[in-house]
Amino acid sequence: MSSSRLRTSTAGACLALGAALSGCASVSEPRAVTLPPGAVLVAAPAIYREWSDRTEACSGLTRQFSSVKWYVVPGVETFETDDGPKVGMWTSHGEIDRIIIAGVYENTEMVVRHEILHHLLGQAGHPAEYFVTRCHLTWDSWDSAQGSVISGPGE
Ligand SMILES: [Zn+2]
Repeated sequence: MSSSRLRTSTAGACLALGAALSGCASVSEPRAVTLPPGAVLVAAPAIYREWSDRTEACSGLTRQFSSVKWYVVPGVETFETDDGPKVGMWTSHGEIDRIIIAGVYENTEMVVRHEILHHLLGQAGHPAEYFVTRCHLTWDSWDSAQGSVISGPGE
């Protein structure tokens, strides 16, 4: 019974528009790195490093920011994935993590940092301790933390 194959597992996760904690995780095909149609590799904007620092601070986790490859799907509110339309997605394949953001949300702190937190955790799931309690990186907990009285998308 060898377990060595487990070390090359690939994980993926994504953030659905309006979704809180459910219906957002997926495990990718072992060999294929699937990018949404139209995804463009981009250099991380300077603000992403700041958001990464903030996410490391709230989570208490640290990883190499430069190990993430960033992609944007220009001009769209959501992109198609195996799990339906998403505004953001994180995948991990070997040493490389990829984060894909829908163009409309590329400057939306919550969406970008949600995916950064997946990267820091190295997992597709959404442990409430990190995503809600520590960092408020779900739609509901983010809005609450901002003290917003404006209804969010889909409300
Ligand atoms: Zn997620």
